[in-house]
Amino acid sequence: MKRFDYVRASELTPACKAASVEGAAFIGGGTNLLDLMKFEIETPIKLVDITQLELKQVEPTVAGGLRIGALVTNSDLAAHPSVIENYPVLSRAILAGATGQLRNKATTGGNFLQRTRCYYFYQPDSPCNKRNPGSGCPSINGENRSLAILGTSEHCIAQHPSDMAVAMRLLDATLETQKADGSTRQIAIKDFYQLPKDTPHIETVLEAGEMITHIILPPQTAGMHTYDKIRDRASYAFALVSCAAVIDADETGTLTTVRLAFGGIGTQPWRNEAVEDALVGTKGGIPDIVHAANILLEQAQGWGQNDFKITLTRRLLKQIIQRALAAKDA
Ligand SMILES: Cc1cc2nc3c(=O)[nH]c(=O)nc-3n(C[C@H](O)[C@H](O)[C@H](O)COP(=O)(O)OP(=O)(O)OC[C@H]3O[C@@H](n4cnc5c(N)ncnc54)[C@H](O)[C@@H]3O)c2cc1C
Ligand code: SF4
Repeated sequence: MKRFDYVRASELTPACKAASVEGAAFIGGGTNLLDLMKFEIETPIKLVDITQLELKQVEPTVAGGLRIGALVTNSDLAAHPSVIENYPVLSRAILAGATGQLRNKATTGGNFLQRTRCYYFYQPDSPCNKRNPGSGCPSINGENRSLAILGTSEHCIAQHPSDMAVAMRLLDATLETQKADGSTRQIAIKDFYQLPKDTPHIETVLEAGEMITHIILPPQTAGMHTYDKIRDRASYAFALVSCAAVIDADETGTLTTVRLAFGGIGTQPWRNEAVEDALVGTKGGIPDIVHAANILLEQAQGWGQNDFKITLTRRLLKQIIQRALAAKDA
């Protein structure tokens, strides 16, 4: 690991200023950043430790939603009574990620910004456009079993790894940030992540020194909340395909609410409202599900080893819709 300066921040604006110089970085739980530093994939010259800031509260909003401090740990957020009661999809998605020890340390803000688990990204001696722009993408003709089938470009096909962010995308979360000049802004999660296109090293719209301070959730959406994660091992593994869902149906079995966001298949948490619109008002029969899956996967492209994700995603969608309807029926 290369030498770096370390600053423990006690106030927001000085923290953002300290992190706005080139080569500086915030550190939350450190569960991703420190690994990347050990491999010298990230080599910050200064770490700004934000863990002492007053960003550890989960509070109700006037609108009836929740405002979550960026330093709330993943464990505390998953176990928060309001989250369990009103946003169980979020609690389940967080608990499907990593391990208890990691979740105890990892922060909400840091979870949004964890880097991809692409094999070549973690190999410092390998080309990788995300790590070293212009060097190439060996994944495209290489080890790509876990990588994305949607939102890819000829420059990068890395999947977004976070389970929590998939549920946040489903719930239409908004991120509150603060910049080095003291100004704040709100960024809808649908606008937060960037597609790789020809700049895969730029992953979000955050500016230098801009800190995520809070996450705002709108009021709860009624319906069955689920998070399904298909992975190689029962725990301690990233998603091959995952799906956060909130689904409801009326007494005739007609779908009235369908919200779906997918992990493991996209270069960012993947949601396509046209898929949801195609299912609402239907009885969720096989032709309806096939039609919706066709919309979801219209632009999907497998890269060889990960072709199976296209079929797996179809099957997962079918399982979730049918299970929700069966539960309503019971
Ligand atoms: C073995 C292992 C297995 C895992 N499995 C899973 C899994 O199955 N599913 C899953 O979702 N995750 C998994 N993870 C990833 C884990 O969830 C992340 O490492 C963690 O959420 C990152 O949070 P952190 O607070 O530790 O971030 P850090 O490592 O501290 O920071 C990550 C990045 O975010 C930046 N940052 C941190 N906080 C802020 C902020 N408030 N504002 C702006 N920038 C900020 C940092 O500068 C850094 O670039 C796994 C990790 C490991 C090591
Ligand atoms: S998929 Fe992206 S992260 Fe992986 S090697 Fe290619 S450019 Fe790098």
